[in-house]
Parts: sequence; C-alpha cells; structure tokens
Amino acid sequence: MTAPILNNRDLEFMLYELFDAESLNKRPRYADHNKETYTATLNTAKAIAEKYLVPTRSIMDTNQPTFDGEKVLMTPEIKIAYDAIVESGFVAPTADYEFGGMQLPPIVANAANAYLAAGGSTLMGYTGLTLANANLIQAHGSEEQIKTWVEPLMSGRFSGTMALTEPGAGSGLADIVTSAVQANDGTYRVSGSKIFISCGDHDLTENIVHLVLARVKGAPKGVKGISLFIVPKFLLNEDGSVGERNEVALSGLFHKMGGKAQTSTALSFGEQDGAIAYLVGEENKGLSYMFHMMNEARILVGTGGAIGGLTGFQYSLYYAKERPQGRLLSCKDPLSPAVNIIEHADVRRMLLAQKAYTEGAYALCLYGTQLYDDETTAPTVEEREKASLLLDFLTPMIKTWPSEYGTEANSLAIQVLGGYGYINEHPVEQMYRDNRLNTIHEGTTGIQSLDLLGRKVPMNNMAGYNAFIAEMQNTITTAQERGVLSEYSESLSKAIETLQSTTTKLLTAMMTDNIDKVMSNSVKYLELFGHIVIAWLWLKQGLVATAALEKQPHESDDKFYRGKLQAMQYFYRCELVDIEGWAKILSDIDSTSYDMQVDWF
Ligand SMILES: Cc1cc2nc3c(=O)[nH]c(=O)nc-3n(C[C@H](O)[C@H](O)[C@H](O)COP(=O)(O)OP(=O)(O)OC[C@H]3O[C@@H](n4cnc5c(N)ncnc54)[C@H](O)[C@@H]3O)c2cc1C
Repeated sequence: MTAPILNNRDLEFMLYELFDAESLNKRPRYADHNKETYTATLNTAKAIAEKYLVPTRSIMDTNQPTFDGEKVLMTPEIKIAYDAIVESGFVAPTADYEFGGMQLPPIVANAANAYLAAGGSTLMGYTGLTLANANLIQAHGSEEQIKTWVEPLMSGRFSGTMALTEPGAGSGLADIVTSAVQANDGTYRVSGSKIFISCGDHDLTENIVHLVLARVKGAPKGVKGISLFIVPKFLLNEDGSVGERNEVALSGLFHKMGGKAQTSTALSFGEQDGAIAYLVGEENKGLSYMFHMMNEARILVGTGGAIGGLTGFQYSLYYAKERPQGRLLSCKDPLSPAVNIIEHADVRRMLLAQKAYTEGAYALCLYGTQLYDDETTAPTVEEREKASLLLDFLTPMIKTWPSEYGTEANSLAIQVLGGYGYINEHPVEQMYRDNRLNTIHEGTTGIQSLDLLGRKVPMNNMAGYNAFIAEMQNTITTAQERGVLSEYSESLSKAIETLQSTTTKLLTAMMTDNIDKVMSNSVKYLELFGHIVIAWLWLKQGLVATAALEKQPHESDDKFYRGKLQAMQYFYRCELVDIEGWAKILSDIDSTSYDMQVDWF
C-alpha cells in the first residue's frame, strides 16, 4: 500500500455534496458537461499525477534547473511530466472551446488541478501562471493581442509569467522603476530588471510571454503611473511562428528552499535598445489590469497552500496507521506488542488538526473559485454582482489562511512522522518546503492583512463585509431551522458578535488614533476573521454530513461523515476558541509591537 495523494471521497464530497457542481451544467457555458465528464477529467488528472508527478517528486527537488550562461537546463523528467499535462488539456481546462479549452467549470478544474498539484506541486506554477496570463490578455488586451497570444498560451505552446517584482519594489509596487518609451511604430521599448520571476526562463515551451509592469517616461509617480506590457522572450513572425530573440535576458536563477522545479529568475529587459513591448489597454492603468491576474493567482496560491497541506495529511495518516511505537498509558503489560502510533491520542490530535485545517482551507478555495465563476456565469445580474462583491472582499483570506494553515499542517505532518519526518526518505519535509513560499509570494501575509482591514473591510460602506456576514447568518439560520448542530451554530453566532465588536473598535480607532498603531496587529485580525470563515465552512460541511447520516448511509460513508463531524468539532472546540485572545489584543489597540523601539532589539 502507498499513501494516496488526496482523499478521493473528500474531493467528491466537496464538489458534489458541498458545492453541488453537478448543477452547473444548467448554465449554457457548461451545457456539454455532466458528472461523467467531470469524473473522467478528475480521473485523468489523478492518473497523470500518479504516473508522471509522484515518481519524479524528489527528482524535481534534487535536480533543480541550472543556467549554463546561455540557457536553462532542466532535468528531462520535468519536460516529460509537463508535456503530459499539456497534452491532456490541463493548461487551460476552463478556456473557451475557440481557444482549445474544455469549458470546464473552474471549480471542477480546480479539483482536477488538485491532483496535479498534490503530485508535484511546483510544476503547476507553469500552467497556473500561463492560464492567468492568457485570461488577463483576453480580458484587457486588444483584439489583435487576443488573436496573437491567447491560443498559443492556452494550448501550452507558449507559457506566461507575471513580472512585477524588482530589487527595490517587492511589497511596495509603487516604487517600480522599470521604464518604457514609445517607439515610432506604436510599440514600446522596455528597460529594467525584474527579480523572483517564476517560470521566467526554461525550455518547456516555444516562447515565454512576460506581462511586465513598467513606467512610461514622464508618467505620474506611484501606482498611478504604472503601465502593463506584453514582452515576449521571442518576437513573432508575420505568420505567428516564433522568430527572433527579444531583448529579454536571464541574468540568473535563484536557488530556493523548495519549489525547485519551478525556475525563479532574475530578468534583464532591454540591455541595449529596449525590449520590444506591446502596451495592454491604456497607459498608467497597468496595475488595475494586473489585478486581474493577481487576484486569480491569489486563489491559486491559497489553493496551493491547501493542497500541499491535504497531501501531507494523507501521507502522515498513512504512516501513522503503519508505524508501531510504544504502548498506551492504560496498558500495564510491557511485553504486549507496540501499538501503531495512530492509537496515541496526541497523534490523532495532530491528524485531526491537519484534517480540520486543510479540509476547511480547501473548502474556502473552492468557495472562492465558485464565486470567481459566478461573477460571469451565474444566471442573474444580482447573483453575478453579489459573487463579485464577496470574492473581492474574501480574496486576502482565500490567499492567506490556506497558505498559513496548509504550511502549519505540513509541519504537523512532519511531527507525526517524528525523526522520519525530518529526513528526506519521506516526502513530508519537501511538502513543507514547497508550501512555505505560499505565505510570501502574491502579497505576504502582512500585506494581505493590511489590505483586508485597511481596504476591504471599510470599502463601499462595508458592503463586502456585510454581504459576507449575511452569508454566514444564513447558514446559522439553516442549522437552527433544521434543529441540528446547535452547539456550533451558537458558537459561530458568538464568534460573529466578537468579530463585529472588534471591527467596530478598529474602524473607530482608525479614524481617531495613530493609523500605524491601529494596524500593527492586522495579521491577528486576518487570523481571527479567517478562523470564523473556516468555522462557517465547517458548519456547512457539518450540515451536509448530518443530512447524509440521517439517511443511514452504508458503512464506509457512515465513517466518512462521522469523520467530518469530528473534524468540525475539533475546529470549533480547539481552534475557534483562540479568537477571543486575538479579539482582546485587537480591541485594546494593543501597542506592544508598535511601541518596541528599533534599538531595543
Ligand atoms: C519563489 C518566489 C517566486 C516569486 N514569483 C514571483 C513572480 O512570479 N512575479 C513577481 O512579480 N514576483 C514574484 N515573487 C516576488 C514576491 O511576490 C515578493 O517576494 C513578495 O511580494 C515580497 O516582496 P519582497 O521579497 O521584496 O519583500 P519585502 O517587500 O521587502 O517584505 C519583507 C517583509 O516586510 C514586510 N513588509 C513590507 N512592506 C510592508 C508594509 N508596507 N507594511 C507592513 N509590512 C511590510 C513584508 O510583509 C515582509 O514580511 C516571488 C518570490 C519568490 C520568493
């Protein structure tokens, strides 16, 4: 027996029981689909992951790409696995038929990608960035740009990047200095250095399409002077074939603690005459276009965090059932055989915590993915607008909570294996290293928490915040009407009251007190709010499980649903209680960190 990379039953539960993905084929866009096509897609993704990704997971970790001064050299297994993903249509499974896509609902594509990410998490960076890049061009590019770039990207012939970060501009994009000047033919010439650009150079695809933020000469300072450009590695000939090299040079590869199959590059644009670049949309509106890609990437990052946690959970669960060690305290016979470590309650605690974190986190990512879909395909305008409002509001939490707690789950997976978890004979240490990035890129946890408290909560008269509270209240009402899970619906109600009073105090203080001081515990606010969101999603899962148990399912399902209820109980009794401590720090506008002087360290 080998450890499964994901729990298939749980994925089915999420898709069909929690989020009712089957009903999506009533929407015209998905009319060709049904549960059978969804299942076939999931099975294909699982088969690719098991055949190409899992066996090469450690090869990708130990043989990271190198740069010989001219080109990037990658281990052949990466190319073989990548091609298998491309050939099966998993670069852009959600794309329109006209661009070679399958028009799969994003929530189903997310579940299929979950297998691929669980099998070899970092390889999915190439496809995820490529699709988000193509989607941005489709949304904001000119007709010609869409015609030129979208199909080659979506088919996987080209790949895409997002090139924002510079040595002096990471979290603070207002300080970007890469420059652009318009040439006589209407194209631009871009010059400057970008760092940390994921998938910025490699030989997996014919061409690489960089979406680059740069400042047109004379543009206003700050974020209002940033424009967005398409800058390909190779220019295209008239017929669309790949032509001459553009002035995009790889200045170096970064060596990282994890995610090693995904190149992290320093790129130099336009070392001589400037790299030929094509403006997307209008000058100085680049950051707002880039948010199209960043928001999509944020859901991907959160999902990566959750999936990394889920696969580590499966591995440590498998291990705990097989590893004999020690005896229970209640056993007085020293000659009795050692029990498997899953018999020890503390090991079950660590497994239950992983289950509660990761199945809660993945439910949040799928919820976000469904909102992303609803924004454009929900039947009514009201539903679309509501989805947009909720998604915009929740994005900092979708990005952050799963990244933080997925990584925490990986740390617990290592702990379950003890010393064996710390050595590379087992994959959990690699899973932890791979996952660790997710709290950093696409906006660090600190930056996301400032966005949540400083922008998303007060925005539009708290419209997003209020809409989300109403969603949670609806679930509480459902539980009350059904007369089930009252312990949990009451806890959630109380937690929402805590959230409301904490939020009011913070918003008042933001207007009257020193803003740096008030925001100094914003990460705690995100954690508090995130815990409540996850508790809500556990109540929703609990409601589905309770209804299913009432129908007396067969034995394996009975156990599955009881496991769901136990994980919900764990989250409420052992995790949600933490919010009271955080609420106190926040409501007191505690200034311990703010008051700490630099030279007191
Ligand atoms: C492996 C990897 C892949 C990446 N991929 C890409 C990519 O594809 N494209 C791309 O453009 N970028 C990419 N990045 C860059 C990534 O998005 C940045 O590293 C990240 O945004 C943080 O910027 P920084 O590293 O400059 O850190 P800094 O901005 O210097 O932040 C350092 C610390 O200071 C805190 N901090 C900074 N400013 C503030 C503030 N105003 N208030 C409170 N705290 C603050 C941060 O939270 C963080 O803890 C990648 C990075 C890595 C490591």
